[in-house]
Amino acid sequence: MAFHLHNTLSGGKEPFEPIEPGKIRMYVCGPTVYDEAHLGHARCYITWDVLYRFLLYLGYEVRYARNITDVDDKILNRADELNEPFKELAIRFTQHFHDDMEALNTLPPTDEPRATDYIDEMITGIEVLITKGIAYKTADGSVYYRTAAKADYGKLWKQPLDELKQEARVESEAGKESPLDFALWKSTNANDPNSWPTPWGQPGRPGWHMECSAMNHRIFGDQIDIHTGGADLIFPHHENEIAQSEAWTDKAPFAKYWLHNGFVNVSGEKMSKSLGNFSTIKRVLERYDGNTLRYFLLVNHYRMPVDLNDDALVGAKNRMVKIHRSFKVACDTLGIHPDVLKEYPILTRNDTSKNPYLAEFEQHMSDDMSTPKALSVMDETIKALNQTIAQNADDLPKVRHLFVQALSIFSYLGFNSALVFADENPLPRETVDALRTIYRELTGEWLASDKDPAVILDEILTLRQRAKEIKNWEQADAIRKHMTDIGIKLIDQKDGSTQWEQV
Ligand SMILES: [Zn+2]
Repeated sequence: MAFHLHNTLSGGKEPFEPIEPGKIRMYVCGPTVYDEAHLGHARCYITWDVLYRFLLYLGYEVRYARNITDVDDKILNRADELNEPFKELAIRFTQHFHDDMEALNTLPPTDEPRATDYIDEMITGIEVLITKGIAYKTADGSVYYRTAAKADYGKLWKQPLDELKQEARVESEAGKESPLDFALWKSTNANDPNSWPTPWGQPGRPGWHMECSAMNHRIFGDQIDIHTGGADLIFPHHENEIAQSEAWTDKAPFAKYWLHNGFVNVSGEKMSKSLGNFSTIKRVLERYDGNTLRYFLLVNHYRMPVDLNDDALVGAKNRMVKIHRSFKVACDTLGIHPDVLKEYPILTRNDTSKNPYLAEFEQHMSDDMSTPKALSVMDETIKALNQTIAQNADDLPKVRHLFVQALSIFSYLGFNSALVFADENPLPRETVDALRTIYRELTGEWLASDKDPAVILDEILTLRQRAKEIKNWEQADAIRKHMTDIGIKLIDQKDGSTQWEQV
């Protein structure tokens, strides 16, 4: 099956053909860096990471840009709150974002433009739009896009314009001709330090939509193959990018394929800060590893909403633990050292005729990236691998044949093989801090901050063991209670030793 993708622009599934054979220009709207990245970001960038990997698997030369929006009202407001220069705030959260992306094992994009480096390109584009009569200046020096001047405005959102007008939430910006018109440039007063000069006189800041059009134009030229983002960006952000770029270059479509990933809900409700069900990537990674989060997200098709809840995450974790174990056993059987697993050669598309599981993986991924079916192929491969090892471990060629297929699918879906040999149950940071406090209360001594949490736990268990030996039941019970309070259950064994588990 040829590679097919669901295109929001046409509303249907289409065979994928890049504008220039063999080469792909792909752009993903990146984060606005004013806070920690959340699970909506995780879903978005994991989805498009999987697409990027699959395009590379198919043999395309891919230029993949994922921008950083480093100037925006949200950033300026936050910087104001924290009394910090906005550039420093943006640099700090860009670094945090990079850390998260690395923990999630996403490949770095080939280009990562920062909006503030493209202000001159934005001004160039705005001037072209003013000259063409598509944009107009208001009395205060702001510049707006005249949506009435573009006959097909609304073609991505596909709703009647009257409904769009309601969607657009009429803002009380003075001088706008229509509620649908949007700011390309927002003027500021002359002494605002966070603003840029313009040829039309009034300094100001760019509108968010214009940032993406300008970065695309400078990096890729007039047209790109794939533009992606979360479904919440279809309107107005992507609609407005199309309007700006097509009017600027007179070339349509600006992007041939528009792809959108679905929302992340938390126990049935849309995730939002105000609902208090907002979860950052860092928080989730304290309890689950990057592979677990990736498995949880990919087991749902990218266009469908996913529902985040602990049961689903625990299910994904159990599945991942089993996969990691199967890989460990296969490594033992084949005599592969854990350190080389991440450099282990994986199969390419040329190998599909000899590797039926890989061929099946390709087929499902070619059908609008059906990761749920691709994952079930991975599960079947691992099941066959386990059975072969259990029944016929001497047949090393067969074990290797299945293992390399499973590992290849695992890698093309972006799972991190370095985590296969990582600790299965890392303790959350607050638990480690609490353990250190308990140790201090018991002994009056502080432990070195780089002490391994498992060692601290062992030392506390030893203290309790000593209390039991001298029949100081009061202290032994007090330690047990402390541990229960921080989510660690102690289980006394018949031989006098004590096991623990996280609850
Ligand atoms: Zn964008």
